[in-house]
Formats: sequence, structure tokens, C-alpha cells
Amino acid sequence: MKVHVFPNNPFQENTYVLTDDSNTCAIVDPGMSNPAEERAVSSFIEKEGLTPTLLLNTHCHVDHVLGNKYVYEQYGLLPQFHEGEAPVLSDVQVRAPMFGLRYEQSPIPEHFLPEEGEVRFGNTALKLIFAPGHSPAHLCFYQPDSAILIGGDVLFRGSIGRTDLPGGNHQQLLENISKKLYVLPEDTVVYPGHGPETTIGFEKQHNPFVRG
Ligand SMILES: [Zn+2]
Repeated sequence: MKVHVFPNNPFQENTYVLTDDSNTCAIVDPGMSNPAEERAVSSFIEKEGLTPTLLLNTHCHVDHVLGNKYVYEQYGLLPQFHEGEAPVLSDVQVRAPMFGLRYEQSPIPEHFLPEEGEVRFGNTALKLIFAPGHSPAHLCFYQPDSAILIGGDVLFRGSIGRTDLPGGNHQQLLENISKKLYVLPEDTVVYPGHGPETTIGFEKQHNPFVRG
């Protein structure tokens, strides 16, 4: 599996397009907030001849869901996330205008994701890792054969997700990082919701908030 990153919106949120050798792709956390950002993602998909078959949200904070409606309209995909994020998504209607962001209401999933299991696109299976703390029902998506974790806002290079938003829990976040992320192989590359990628091994050694 390969990862393509598109930083979007004023929060510089990382939207990921995941590809394999099947000519399909998954879109994770579409944060496009204007036509130029929408075009960047769509042009890539078109240029590569890809058909998007899966739309995932790690969690439903405003900066991660701004493009859900666009992806639904372009590719007919409903978002998939954990049901515990539904109240967070409802809240986006109130929060987006506070940040001066245009928000076209996201469609609601037909199927919510469980805490454990996997989702698939093309020839690729992504394992679900339930890691709340930054938000109430945050999921990470792990591809073991490629040693890739799409981590959302749980673990950043040298930092961790904030826990002062509704449904946040600092202790829970620390425990999930220790018990669910730091147990992955050290060479696992973490692609976070903001900023550059890192590895599990690097964070276990250097992260000032949680050491492994
Ligand atoms: Zn967030």
C-alpha cells in the first residue's frame, strides 16, 4: 500500500489517499475546504486512473470531515467511522462557522465501524485500532504488511493529540498510545492527521509525552 498526502484547510489537516496495485483507492479524513483543495485531490485520483471505493474518518473533528460531502457527491461514497463519533459530527455544524469554515453537511454512515476488525479496499486490508482520548471513538487504520499506520490525531511526531475538546481524556489517550500503538513493530510508519510522518520506534524513544 502507498500513502499520498494532501494537507488541507487552515488546520493543515492531512488528507490521505491510499493506493495499492488494484487501481482503486481509499480516502481518509477528507479535509478539503475550498475548490482548489478539492481539485488537488480529484486531479490526483483522475491522473492515476483510480476509483475510490472507501471513505474513512479516523474521527469527526471539523478539520477531518470538511470534504466528506464532496467525496460523497464525486464518488458516491458514504463515510465510515465509529458510531461514538456521531455526536462529534453533529457538533461540526456549530463549530465550522466559528472558524470561518464553509461546511456542507456530511452524509451519515450506513454502517458504523466496530472497535476491532478490518476494512478493505482493492487488495488491501486495514486493521482497526480503537484509540479514543483525543476524541471519544477515534480509530486508527493499520496495514501490517506495508508497516503503515494512518494514525489520525492520536500520535504526532514529537507530540500527541490534544485532549481538551469534548469527549477528550488525557489518561485514556496516554494508555492507548502505550498499549495499542507502541506494541506495533518499531519500523511502522505513522502518518498523522497533522505534520510529518514518524515511526513507532522514534516516538518510543523521543516523544516527550509517552515513552515506550
Ligand atoms: Zn482532531
